[in-house]
Amino acid sequence: MTTVKGIVIKERTAGEQDKFIDVLTEEYGVIELTVRGAKKISGKSGSSVQLFAYSNFCYSQRGEYLILNSAEPIRIFYGLRDSLTKISLASYFADVLRFCISPETNSGDIMRLFLNTLHYLEKNLRNEKMLKSIFELRLMSEIGFMPDVLACRECGLFEPAELFFSVRESCFYCKDCFHGNADEWYKIKISVLSAIRHILLSDFDRLYNFRTSDETMDRLSIIAENYLVLHLERNFRTLDFYKSLKI
Ligand SMILES: [Zn+2]
Repeated sequence: MTTVKGIVIKERTAGEQDKFIDVLTEEYGVIELTVRGAKKISGKSGSSVQLFAYSNFCYSQRGEYLILNSAEPIRIFYGLRDSLTKISLASYFADVLRFCISPETNSGDIMRLFLNTLHYLEKNLRNEKMLKSIFELRLMSEIGFMPDVLACRECGLFEPAELFFSVRESCFYCKDCFHGNADEWYKIKISVLSAIRHILLSDFDRLYNFRTSDETMDRLSIIAENYLVLHLERNFRTLDFYKSLKI
């Protein structure tokens, strides 16, 4: 028997009584557990195997399947269900994680990012736009897609007042060095670059602690989303749905 802490990022029914759940764990990446008699489980055990439940899972391997023996809830993000936009945003995060975390990946920092983001989302502690941008950019950096945001690629200038950032090239040029096609690059101010740097480089303890103007946040949010979609080379239906709610 194996015991792990994990968070349910997908559930689907299997036959009449059972269900499969995908669980993001620190040690084993995303694992699929079979929950026997899922329809009959209620109360505490039932809630511990729901979508977005963070629980202690105890399971054993039978052939190619991992069969759940028991589960104890640690934190159930009930509050997410009170809001369609919140549950939709959380579903998009879960979708992205299922896509980019393979089995056997050491995912400690990614778990922490996801759990913290859900916490702030559920409790209304930060706005959705900010949480979405933090999740997207920080996740991309954790899985190896860190853009070069330290200095202008040409002259090494650290804090240009205005600059051109490329999602595709993952770098920036200051206004004076830039010679590309302005349609393909984001012309941004230093405040947007500072926010990107904060998300990519700060410790987890400080990650959610920054302030920006609405204008900066709007710019940041477009760049963060495009950065993720372009580098993962995939569209997410859950993202389209979330955005359709925001119009
Ligand atoms: Zn330069």
